Amino acid sequence: MATVEEISVNYSELLKADIKAFEEIGKELRKQLLPKLHEDYELALEIEPKLKDGEHEITQTLSLCPSCLRLLKAVIFEREGKVWIRKECPVHGEIEEIYWGDYELYMRFKKWQFDGKGVKNTNVPLLTLCPYNCGLCPRHKSHTALLNLVATNRCDLSCWYCFFFAARAGYVYEPTLNHIRYMLREARKLAPVPPKALQITGGEPLLRDDIVEIVKIAKEEGFT
Ligand code: SF4
Ligand SMILES: [Zn+2]
Ligand SMILES: [Zn+2]
Repeated sequence: MATVEEISVNYSELLKADIKAFEEIGKELRKQLLPKLHEDYELALEIEPKLKDGEHEITQTLSLCPSCLRLLKAVIFEREGKVWIRKECPVHGEIEEIYWGDYELYMRFKKWQFDGKGVKNTNVPLLTLCPYNCGLCPRHKSHTALLNLVATNRCDLSCWYCFFFAARAGYVYEPTLNHIRYMLREARKLAPVPPKALQITGGEPLLRDDIVEIVKIAKEEGFT
């Protein structure tokens, strides 16, 4: 990512940083965080994925090529009682995957689709398409219902599907207590509906000796 050269964070400084320092770092980093077209990602929106015999369109959407992460047009359709998604990458060809295993159930759940109030004070301006604008962007239609706090990526398990735990990632991610307080405080500023529910996750958060302190901080910052 082009962003790696531009963002220079001194990690040993972060260990000593107070809330104010995190605020300043956040202010600077936010401007640089969005990936750049042609440097970090490509679009290929000219290809219309087509339906084949026996397929019935449900809707169209945008999706990514799982190999090169190009943004592609995609069609969601029903075939033989299942819901599928199809897209076509100019480099990696046609990609078809199961979207939902049961068409009836999919339609039943669709009835409860509900757009919320969204988030007014997001971190990044709306500059490009989803998912390259994330972090948190104004396109979100619902508020944060359950905030996830990653307390560490150290873990005493090694699940085969996990890309995140320290041994597989190749680095340890473990925010300091000040960093955690800063993140929780920022999250509580989200409007019009600030999150109240918190899930402390990892890795295995109980590997942290100061986990009780983290819970205390969460309570002090307004999580219940
Ligand atoms: S972080 Fe979760 S998914 Fe990953 S290895 Fe640990 S328990 Fe498994
Ligand atoms: Zn591709
Ligand atoms: Zn977003």
